[in-house]
Amino acid sequence: MKHKYTKICPYCKTVFTTDKSARKFCRAKCGELYRGQCAPKLSKHLCQRCGHIFAAARKRKFCTKECQGRYMRDIGLIQKTKIKVPVKITLTDAARQSKAEGVTYGTFVRLHKLK
Ligand SMILES: [Zn+2]
Ligand SMILES: [Zn+2]
Repeated sequence: MKHKYTKICPYCKTVFTTDKSARKFCRAKCGELYRGQCAPKLSKHLCQRCGHIFAAARKRKFCTKECQGRYMRDIGLIQKTKIKVPVKITLTDAARQSKAEGVTYGTFVRLHKLK
């Protein structure tokens, strides 16, 4: 004789008996409905990198990890180049700046390594 389990269906709260210990719901439909109830609602998001519209339960900026990685890398590159590339001073600016600093144009250029 098989062992019978008395269970309460988590969805409709019906008490039922089953010989399968793993069984949770009184009927398959209850399982479906219960899972549907618990499933996180998906909302649409726009990937900040590729512009792809994707569905996700939580707020996300990127459709894939790859997009996120690439985006981060791009940001890193932009920040790096910003540090590397010095602000370009036009000759007029240099002339004005040298006057402001009280040095000759030639000294200014040498001081700021413009050439
Ligand atoms: Zn049920
Ligand atoms: Zn993407």
